Amino acid sequence: MPTYEYRCDDCGHRFAQFYRSIAAAQEATAPACPRCEGEETRRVPSSFAVSGPSGPDPGQVAHDQAQANRAASVTSKEQINTWRKAKPSS
Ligand SMILES: [Zn+2]
Repeated sequence: MPTYEYRCDDCGHRFAQFYRSIAAAQEATAPACPRCEGEETRRVPSSFAVSGPSGPDPGQVAHDQAQANRAASVTSKEQINTWRKAKPSS
């Protein structure tokens, strides 16, 4: 089952979306963010999706990681506060 990973432009939340088939995934529009219900989500390279017969391509994984790190480094304080507020207080 193909899994695609999405990132929400509104709150920065990353989530995985499962599809019945590659074709279904390609036809589907980006799902709404499960956290803030924002529709500004975009697909990001996923370590699930790039897995081939020989496993994940190390170069692609490194590229994904670099991209994730870059995304994390530009996370604004405002976004982090949004995440904190979204968590249930215990
Ligand atoms: Zn969101």
